[in-house]
Amino acid sequence: MKKTMLAANWKMNQSCESMTNYFAELKKLTDLEQASKCLDLIFAVPFTLLPQSKNVCSDLPLSLAAQNVHWEASGAYTGEISAAMIAECGVTHCIIGHSERRQYFNESNEQISKKIAACLSAGIKPIFCIGETLAQREAGATEETITNQINSVLAQFNHDQITEMVFAYEPVWAIGTGLAATVEQAVEVHAHIRKLIESNANASIAESAIILYGGSVKASNIASLVREKHIDGGLVGGASLNADSFSNMIAEAIKVSKINL
Ligand code: PEP
Repeated sequence: MKKTMLAANWKMNQSCESMTNYFAELKKLTDLEQASKCLDLIFAVPFTLLPQSKNVCSDLPLSLAAQNVHWEASGAYTGEISAAMIAECGVTHCIIGHSERRQYFNESNEQISKKIAACLSAGIKPIFCIGETLAQREAGATEETITNQINSVLAQFNHDQITEMVFAYEPVWAIGTGLAATVEQAVEVHAHIRKLIESNANASIAESAIILYGGSVKASNIASLVREKHIDGGLVGGASLNADSFSNMIAEAIKVSKINL
C-alpha cells in the first residue's frame, strides 16, 4: 500500500522567521511521527529558506523540496541554482514544470525534460507537473494536452528513471482560484496519466507511480480526493501556508489513508 503524499508548495512566500514559527506550530498541532506512518509530508520552500529549513526540520519526519532547478550542473548561468546545490541543502524532491513556470517563464517540455534529468542525476525525485488550461478543457482538449505533456517528457527517460518520478496533475484553472476539479474530473485525468505511464514504462511502474492532484486543495476537500484509488495525494499551494490549515488537512488525509494505522 502506498503512503498518501501531501506536498506543500509555498511558492514565493514565507521568511526565515515565519518558517521557523510554522514548523514549531505544526509540531504542536500534529503528531507528525504518527502522521508519517501513513503520509509522506513534503515542503517545497523558497531556495533561500532551504538551509535554515534543513536545520529547523532536522528532527521532524518530513522532507524538503525545491520549486525549480536549472538543468546544467554548473557554469555561467547568472541567477540559476543547480540540482547539486539543492541536494546539498537536504532536498529530496523538486517541483518541475509547475504551470506558473510554464506560463510566466515560458518553460517548454524540452526544458522540463532537462530539469528532470538534472534532478535524477543528483538523486532528487522530480514532482513533474502537468495540466490543461481552461481554454484547453473547454475545447475538449484535456486528454490531448496531458498526453502531449507526458509523452514528450517520458520518451526521454528509461524505466528506472520513470520509477523515480512523482506526477502532479494540476488543472491550471483550479490553481489558486478556489475552484477545485471535481473528484470525477480528477479521477478521469489521473487514470489517463496512469495509462500513459504504463505505455511509456510498464504496468507495474504505472501501478506504483505517485500521482498527486493539485488545484485549490483544502482541508475540506482533501479526503474526497485522496480516498480515490488513482489519487495518491495532493500538491497544495494556498492552504499549505498556514500551519493550522495544513494540520487540519493532515488530519483529514489520515482518516482516509490507504494504510491502516
Ligand atoms: C499549486 O500552486 O501547486 C497549487 C495547487 O495552488 P493552490 O493549492 O493554491 O491552488
